[in-house]
Amino acid sequence: MAGTQADPTDVRLARVERQFWIDRNVALESAEAWLAELGDGEHGATARRLRVVVAAVRMDRGDPSQSAVEVQEILSWAEQHGELALQSRCHDVLGSIFELVGDRALALEHAVAANDLLEDSEVPLMRAAARKCLADALGSAGSLDEARRRYADALRLVIDDPETMIRYNILNNLAYTEYLAHNQAEALAAVEQLICLSEVGDRQIGMYALDTVARVYLTAGRLDEAEQKLLPAMDPAVGDLHPDGSTAALVTLAEIYRTQGKLEQAQTVIDRCRDLSQRHGLIRWSTEAAREQAEIHAANGDFRAAFEAYRDFHEQSEALGASEDKSRGRILEAVFQTAEARRESERYRELAERDPLTGLHNRRFVDERLGVALLRMREGGPTLAIAMVDLDHFKRINDTLSHEVGDSVLREVGRLLIDAAASVTDGIAARLGGEEFLLALPGLEAGEAQLHFEAVCRAIADHDWSPITGSLPVTASIGVALAPADGQQSSDLLRAADVRLYVAKRDGRNRVVHAAVVSTPAPVPDLLEAR
Ligand code: GH3
Ligand code: MG
Ligand code: MG
Repeated sequence: MAGTQADPTDVRLARVERQFWIDRNVALESAEAWLAELGDGEHGATARRLRVVVAAVRMDRGDPSQSAVEVQEILSWAEQHGELALQSRCHDVLGSIFELVGDRALALEHAVAANDLLEDSEVPLMRAAARKCLADALGSAGSLDEARRRYADALRLVIDDPETMIRYNILNNLAYTEYLAHNQAEALAAVEQLICLSEVGDRQIGMYALDTVARVYLTAGRLDEAEQKLLPAMDPAVGDLHPDGSTAALVTLAEIYRTQGKLEQAQTVIDRCRDLSQRHGLIRWSTEAAREQAEIHAANGDFRAAFEAYRDFHEQSEALGASEDKSRGRILEAVFQTAEARRESERYRELAERDPLTGLHNRRFVDERLGVALLRMREGGPTLAIAMVDLDHFKRINDTLSHEVGDSVLREVGRLLIDAAASVTDGIAARLGGEEFLLALPGLEAGEAQLHFEAVCRAIADHDWSPITGSLPVTASIGVALAPADGQQSSDLLRAADVRLYVAKRDGRNRVVHAAVVSTPAPVPDLLEAR
């Protein structure tokens, strides 16, 4: 925003995140250097944003399972701390990871979340990255129109950003999606745009994108142009610098020569491809090379060699499938374990805030939530009415019947209070200890609150207790306090309610004391105005 002083940490972070889309080596180096600079200890969202950058580069470098676990953990932290920008980035990376391992449903889920959680203040580049992630997931899931729209959105966001390579990635993915869907015209249009961009921007198209361009030309029958695009992959220096993209490109180049009937050239290319992929351990591409080798032998009329090459291809491709399945399994397992651990700890946290006898919330929960509700109120949120509810002569039930009967009564009162809390949005019913309970009902006028608590008092007294206590009645005394009228801190409110509870006991029990007003079961709303 014009005029406001940007936080230097934010500026530096944005620079590292931007670097990811310019040069991933540099991004990795600067993120790791900054993390080293920060050292051990808790560095909040900053260190975690850097770790997400590191994980994103690592994922790209073929270590997705470690990245998946790391990012999942960071996401949990971001959710607990309400860090939206960090959450969005985590979902973005997780979307790509699941896309990579072929889990389309999860990829889409994360991609949608990455977009939903984007903040208005987010820079265009990050918005474009999230749109691209969503478009990739939609395209894989077969929603082509939806994918196209997101690619177009993404492109629009970064159209004036010549420094990064994201526009090339977007156009490449768009072209490849159209190519896989056999939409030749659309694929060609995207490819032309990509080439145009590189000519205007005077920037080389990466090897993978060149392969996309050539594949689209190949299916369009523009073989010479396809060949021209891929010739750089034959340069050994280029091959060793970008082995992955180059081996992919060489498979396509061999196919182009074979289609043209230039079988000797095809053989030379595929020999180089096999050599390069084996030297760099690229199983996926040596498998593809074996398949193309079989096609070349067949085109030469050497069916015996073709058969052997096919057999070779099948063996490799089964081994590849198994190893891909294994790595996919590893990633999914790792991610689910983290998610499972998270659910477990949430469950324990929830248990720790409940009273085991009645299932109501306990005092710890009340201490926490009352504070939050009052904070909200001070910031313009709803008012809050609380009531301390204490059973009358409860000792008598224990003494004349039994402790077990006493427990049953407490459980039944708990149920009545849960109903009362559920009648209001965000209502809370809790057991503070012994036979003492608390109800907190937000958003009620003083008169409404009084009516609610009178109704609770009556519900307890009028309940059919005979199956539990026989002829012994069960009633409660209730002291009410309202925020902000009686105070804005939970200690003030609890004290006021406690004093009124004492008044209710003193004046005969089975009644509600609300501010200075004592009422018997029939409410006296007129008197409220006097307060
Ligand atoms: P008052 O109307 O003045 O509140 O009388 P009271 O008998 O309800 O109050 P008092 O504080 O004298 O007694 C509370 C009793 O609640 C004493 C205690 O044994 C019993 N109590 C506390 N916790 C439990 C529990 O978990 N189960 C059972 N059954 N009884 C409990
Ligand atoms: Mg009592
Ligand atoms: Mg008591």
